[in-house]
Amino acid sequence: MSAAGVVVVGAGQAGFQVAASLREAGFSDPVTLVGDEPGLPYQRPPLSKAYLAGRTDAEGLDLRPAAFFAEHRIALRAGVWAAAIDRAARTLRLGDGDGLAYDHLVLATGARNRPLPVPGADLRGVRQLRGLTDADALRAALGDARRIVVVGAGFIGLEFAAVAAARGLDVTVIEAAGRPMARAVSAETGAFFRGAHEGIGVRFAFDAAILAIEGEAGRVAAVRLSDGRSVPADLVVVGIGVLPNQEIAAEAGLAVADGIRVDAFLTTIDPAISAIGDCARYPSPFGLGHDGTIRIESVQNAIDQGRCLAARLGGRPAAYAALPWFWSDQGRHKLQIAGLAAPSDAGVLRGSGDAFSVFRFRGDRLTAVESVNRGGDHMIARRLLGAGRALTAAEAADPRFDLKALAMG
Ligand code: FAD
Repeated sequence: MSAAGVVVVGAGQAGFQVAASLREAGFSDPVTLVGDEPGLPYQRPPLSKAYLAGRTDAEGLDLRPAAFFAEHRIALRAGVWAAAIDRAARTLRLGDGDGLAYDHLVLATGARNRPLPVPGADLRGVRQLRGLTDADALRAALGDARRIVVVGAGFIGLEFAAVAAARGLDVTVIEAAGRPMARAVSAETGAFFRGAHEGIGVRFAFDAAILAIEGEAGRVAAVRLSDGRSVPADLVVVGIGVLPNQEIAAEAGLAVADGIRVDAFLTTIDPAISAIGDCARYPSPFGLGHDGTIRIESVQNAIDQGRCLAARLGGRPAAYAALPWFWSDQGRHKLQIAGLAAPSDAGVLRGSGDAFSVFRFRGDRLTAVESVNRGGDHMIARRLLGAGRALTAAEAADPRFDLKALAMG
């Protein structure tokens, strides 16, 4: 490779990881990390958990201290927007007009929150949570809020609801589906978390459509539902999913379809450009869609794709085939998921009360395991699924069946 080296757009979890892993692998050409957020690359998960609850400060979020970047010769261009790619000239155009030449360009642009498409969504007091700035604003807003509406019973909405309820605030979660986390977890796990949240005072409105957010003097006052109900609120937090940041790729003529399309090696249709993390749609053995591709929003995916790509750029190519896994902390409960289930996959229960796992099966194939307060099951499930070991529904349900032995065998 010539001296232009690797340029990474997006200094989040995936962008940081590919840069760090390149250096770990002994890659010696320049590595430049361009990110529009100010400051050092940081972790997002605590933004809806410990950081929101005030149990950690902003420094505790940093992926590495400033010295790491200097020591590893990673040029961090923070607070800089990457505006366009000139593929013919292999140059990235920056927001300030500068050009940055690359030998290989990595798109690790992440995702942004999906906007709520109703009147009033731009009122003061209607907020979302993606970055540190959002989290700081929400932390401050929690100090004054009394009645909170959370739109969307997904992971982030529920994590936020749990933190707000623990502060004694009045919280209503409004969800279009009939249960929490409907796309991601089984009915059993959804029912458990519904009960857990209700137990700390959270109210739910399921199968609910929002008509408008109503305001007074430019500030949110209530959320109006299609069934005529109006839920008073002085803070509304919208968590209805994300959209991949793919525009820079599309404008450069790269293939996009709910994500920047890459092959099994995470390369776009241009061999000099790859995409990783939340923004990338890739073919996966765990893919659920009709074309076998998926786009995953998780720390595991961002880290493992960063490592996989760094290995390829360092001369050790391998198809990306890591098992997806995920966690979510809601109040005092920890949910961990290994694998990927379709909503129609059957669920088999192991354990009871507030410590159980749901093993998901499609036909006789294990597709995912959801563990609630059962960290041991989660680790075993990752081994089982990663190694493709066969497990029957009867074995999964039998508390005497030795799962660990099967996983290790
Ligand atoms: P990001 O971390 O989003 O980084 C992308 C970066 O690129 C951003 O800084 C963005 O501003 C920047 N960027 C985009 N376009 C440009 C451009 N043109 N020029 C310059 N910069 C650009 N995952 C879990 O597994 N477990 C959890 O518990 C969990 N909790 C979460 C809680 C919250 C509140 C959030 C928001 C996410 C959570 N996630 C969790 C998801 C996880 O954080 C993401 O999957 C992960 O951050 C994805 O990494 P990424 O590098 O692909 O994207």
